Amino acid sequence: MSKIIAIANQKGGVGKTTTSVNLGAGMATLGKRVLLVDIDPQGNTTSGVGVNKADVANCIYDILINEVNPQETILETQIEGLHIIPATIQLAGAEIELVSTISRELKLKKALNAVKSNYDYIIIDCPPSLGILTINSLTAADSVIIPIQCEYYALEGLSQLLNTVRLVQKNLNPHLKIEGVLLTMLDARTNLGIQVIEEVKKYFQEKVYKTIIPRNVRLSEAPSHGQSIITYDTRSKGAEVYLELAKEVISYE
Ligand code: ADP
Ligand code: MG
Repeated sequence: MSKIIAIANQKGGVGKTTTSVNLGAGMATLGKRVLLVDIDPQGNTTSGVGVNKADVANCIYDILINEVNPQETILETQIEGLHIIPATIQLAGAEIELVSTISRELKLKKALNAVKSNYDYIIIDCPPSLGILTINSLTAADSVIIPIQCEYYALEGLSQLLNTVRLVQKNLNPHLKIEGVLLTMLDARTNLGIQVIEEVKKYFQEKVYKTIIPRNVRLSEAPSHGQSIITYDTRSKGAEVYLELAKEVISYE
């Protein structure tokens, strides 16, 4: 059985891309077959696993707009078992181009159905908006992981996100679940982080992952080397926690 998980939060900079790359890398390291799907025009997941965007012939845009076979867009990465459907800046036009197409919310779902059986997990890195690309992701997904940064206003904007999840459940994808809520970028030296943890746990209760991602410099360095934390610095705290998260997510089959 394969599972499609969207990593979503319309706030930028909360750790969606870092989580997509490193959760995916962690799962693959644990022997799972993983497909990353980059659906953010910034393409940070794509470059984050070492793919040179200039060399990409077909990307997620071609799947959504030009009906290109998804199999023809899939690339391998340095990590065995970790593949990616890349995104380039071309995707920035898709939001507008999709407006006039039929069943525009279902494009990604249809495409992933064709490759789903080849993978244990498909992880979709969403853009920082609740537009048609995120709707496509939530429609294709079995579940959603919501990363929340341990900062002031951590819960701000979450009601809009949860509203969007409910709308998708009601109209497009009745079996969409909340897979879990992930606390990210915790600075253990401040009381603020502890307060945010308590606040988020009060709101989401048992949906909050036991694994909490601390701030870790190695995590922020890895993308500029085109590597996941697992290959960039296996012995770092960042690698340790993302492996732990991978185990936790896998355990909730
Ligand atoms: P999003 O995809 O939600 O916009 P990113 O994953 O790109 O967020 O993270 C935003 C920035 O914070 C990036 O520069 C990333 O390298 C950095 N970052 C993310 N998680 C951590 C962490 N746990 N520790 C340190 N830096 C992090
Ligand atoms: Mg991102």
